[in-house]
Amino acid sequence: MKTIVFIWFKVDTMPELTDLYLGPAQCGPDVTKVEEYKYGGGKVGLDIEIKLDEGDERIAKVCALLTQHGEYHSTARRDIYTEEDLQNAPLLDVGSWARYRVMAGLGYGTTYDLSNACKQCGTGVRQTSPLVIRGDDERSLEKMHVAATLHGELLVHDVVGEKLVNANVTGLNLWRIYAERKTIANVELRREQIFAENVLPPMAPASTLDRKDVCPVCRRGHFSFLEDVPARIVYRADDLKNIQDMNLTWEWFTRFGTIPEDAVERGMWPAPSLLVTPKVMNLLRGKTKKEKKYEGVSFTPVWIEGQTPWG
Ligand SMILES: [Zn+2]
Repeated sequence: MKTIVFIWFKVDTMPELTDLYLGPAQCGPDVTKVEEYKYGGGKVGLDIEIKLDEGDERIAKVCALLTQHGEYHSTARRDIYTEEDLQNAPLLDVGSWARYRVMAGLGYGTTYDLSNACKQCGTGVRQTSPLVIRGDDERSLEKMHVAATLHGELLVHDVVGEKLVNANVTGLNLWRIYAERKTIANVELRREQIFAENVLPPMAPASTLDRKDVCPVCRRGHFSFLEDVPARIVYRADDLKNIQDMNLTWEWFTRFGTIPEDAVERGMWPAPSLLVTPKVMNLLRGKTKKEKKYEGVSFTPVWIEGQTPWG
């Protein structure tokens, strides 16, 4: 595993970029990506992304030069994992590719039981009928090996679902899903929604959780990850004693569009994250080149307290 630092900023011209920043900071094309963009009046500007390993002294140089010239810039840190890291992880957090997310849920006829949920944020809500997706989104699902809704529900092709069942994956439930139709009955799709029921204990303190928006009523809804450090999930070794192949985090995370004020009314409640074993990761991943293109999910290892590479 290594941590990469991204630096993003904009400048007007190429000479400005090379003379003021790239030259003095010694950042070559191997670490710099430059793209043109158009803005007001047909003017062209440059969008720059510099990507360096954490610890590289050029990071501080570039940032100091940008600050010196009053140029706005933003930075982010991301962990990059090797295949070996992924295969050796106790569990992996399943993330979905944003551009393949579909609309689904309360607004399309799916029903939910809120009787045991937090009145403030909806954490603890239980889905009580098969998921219905927006009719217009049916086509965008077609090619996907694994897809997700905007709200984070994971949808697999029934061929993938069958593979999971045949491999005796533990902690798994699969429900058929439907596409909404306005004038006729909703249509059943060759897709299944993944459900996990095994809930892990709260994460260890070394996790990079952002607690500032956590629901004041249940203290469990609206977690997120800190922005200036990589998203890292850490558990105590004891917490992972009773894991299954499919698990949910105790923490419920803010999802796209989940706003505490009207979350319950609009069905925009937070949701737990799905953590799976490498066995499940290998079954969810696409095998052929085409399947890989539409794989739809990414995997981030979970760490065990005391064994984290960042100490
Ligand atoms: Zn709450």
